[in-house]
Amino acid sequence: MEKKVAIKKLKSAAVSGKFMADYYYELDAAAKSGEKKIAWCTSVGPAEILRAMGFLVYFPETHSAMLGATRMATDLIPKANAIGYSPDICSYLTADVGAYLEGVSPLAKVFKGIEGPPKPDVLVFNTNQCRDVQDWFKYYGKEYGVPVVGIHSYVGVEAVTSSYLVSIARQMEELVKPLEAVSSEKFDLDRLKEAVALSRECSDLWKEVLDTAAAVPSPLTFFDGTTLMGPAVVGRGTPEANDCYRTLLQELKERCDNREGAIEDEQYRLYWDGMPVWGRLSVHAKMFAALNTNVLASTYCNSWIFSALDPQDPFESMARAYTELFIVRGDDYKEDYIGRMLDFFKCDGIIYHDAKTCPNNSNCRYGMPQRMEKKTGLPSLMINGDLNDLRLISDEQTKTNVEAFIEQLEERKG
Ligand code: SF4
Repeated sequence: MEKKVAIKKLKSAAVSGKFMADYYYELDAAAKSGEKKIAWCTSVGPAEILRAMGFLVYFPETHSAMLGATRMATDLIPKANAIGYSPDICSYLTADVGAYLEGVSPLAKVFKGIEGPPKPDVLVFNTNQCRDVQDWFKYYGKEYGVPVVGIHSYVGVEAVTSSYLVSIARQMEELVKPLEAVSSEKFDLDRLKEAVALSRECSDLWKEVLDTAAAVPSPLTFFDGTTLMGPAVVGRGTPEANDCYRTLLQELKERCDNREGAIEDEQYRLYWDGMPVWGRLSVHAKMFAALNTNVLASTYCNSWIFSALDPQDPFESMARAYTELFIVRGDDYKEDYIGRMLDFFKCDGIIYHDAKTCPNNSNCRYGMPQRMEKKTGLPSLMINGDLNDLRLISDEQTKTNVEAFIEQLEERKG
């Protein structure tokens, strides 16, 4: 018989839920009234510039994650395949384009009165995460007949040198002119500094939230983090997102003070590398909790920490923040970073999610797990799966492999 598991819900998750509802209703109202311009932006794109220029900012990746979490994605992906987008490319892209072609959206299910994503006035990408975002935005640029502008970033960066920063900062500055042509507002450096300051504060608060997972037992799970990060992704640069994280932080600190873990009996602590499997968040959360294991930290949730942001030097510091990201970096840097995180979060091992349609955020394909095991002495497990396409997942196989991995941890602890 399956063990019954208790995963303690965070009360302040409701605050983040309310933030997300307000966010989507504001976008929907603006799209209907035309009172404010709407920019679509990639999740680690230059949102601060857009906010400073009066745009409301919508992030298609969040919509795709919702398509995954509501398990709508798998049936929609073939619709995009049918118009030429391969089943092997990003399943965020294919699920989102599939949803557009079918005229469906999880927003309509969750938020009464909203039919779907708000129509864009402009689309702004940054290829720091992958090339797929550019193709994705270009598709919508043609469909909606609106401009697409973007930043072409570097990949596999080991040291972030000034030549990278000059190039990216210049590309960011060059966005201003085409954005002014769309926005009804002129660019104002003071407003950018304000947006960067708010974004930095959001990043610091979000980091503090995630860092509470270093406590034993951890008050937080990775699976909580994937939904709690919503305000950091879509709301960075707004005071409301920061308020959300102040509330959450208070609750997490109380849990730490009371030595209250997110799962009932935390025996093993794991680190997660790569994307979540959106359609299996709850299944995975329960599976690990039943094995007295807390997956408590990840490279994924940490991606919205931008500690380099500095309001006194907005363009250059944005260039640095958006180039220092884990996903942009070379393997030497990544391995050093993961090593430090394993230490900081007192982990017993690491799980690598090899997401079939996202090679950009799957780090186990070029020998990293083996090198990391040698370096840290900690065991690892690779899970084959995908972020959105559930046809690429074997639940039985995952369960069997995870159970065997935890047994291995048990033996190591003796
Ligand atoms: S990083 Fe991966 S999941 Fe994200 S948009 Fe690119 S390919 Fe898709």
